[in-house]
Amino acid sequence: MEQTTFPLIGIARHRMGIDGSGITTLVAGAGCPLQCKWCINQKLLQEAPVRHVTAQQLLELVKKDDLYYRATGGGITFGGGESLLHADFIRAFRQICPSEWRISVETSLCVPETLVAAAADAADMFIIDCKDMNAEIYKRYTGGDPSLMMNNLRYLLERTGPEQILVRVPLIPEYNTETDQEVSRKILLEMGVKNLDLFKYVCR
Ligand code: SF4
Repeated sequence: MEQTTFPLIGIARHRMGIDGSGITTLVAGAGCPLQCKWCINQKLLQEAPVRHVTAQQLLELVKKDDLYYRATGGGITFGGGESLLHADFIRAFRQICPSEWRISVETSLCVPETLVAAAADAADMFIIDCKDMNAEIYKRYTGGDPSLMMNNLRYLLERTGPEQILVRVPLIPEYNTETDQEVSRKILLEMGVKNLDLFKYVCR
């Protein structure tokens, strides 16, 4: 049977307090359906050489930090790009990595619901960058469909419960204001989100 592979563009080790609890290794994959105007990864996504790895090959690359993950409650964070484009791979990796490792996914949720469903049981934490809950701002900034993100968020809240979800709400220079950010925060709380991170994009 053909194995699912992951288009690896980079690995960042020994991360703390950035993308999940404990010490994490960020595994970045190529591909994203959005075109955010301030995307710092766009150039990387377009120009970085991509190496396709199997779940076993990725495990060999990241297991050197096994002791750190176990000691701190950390693990692997899949990012990108859009990590949920690789939901089947994440499931395959979850099946072979130590069960003590915490698996997190960074996502915009702007993907088909089938991919969210495929990753729901494999991930311990979803770190969601919602951009902005205002449909016009969302479309203008990302070029994507905000209803997809919102429907997937509703689905995930029901499927996993709010404790496995962190929604990041950025202040986006030239696209939204602190008032917009506050409106997004309130909408998310009303939807049942419990873990929120309000922050500001730094554009260089
Ligand atoms: S979702 Fe992330 S990776 Fe995709 S375009 Fe937006 S900022 Fe870039």
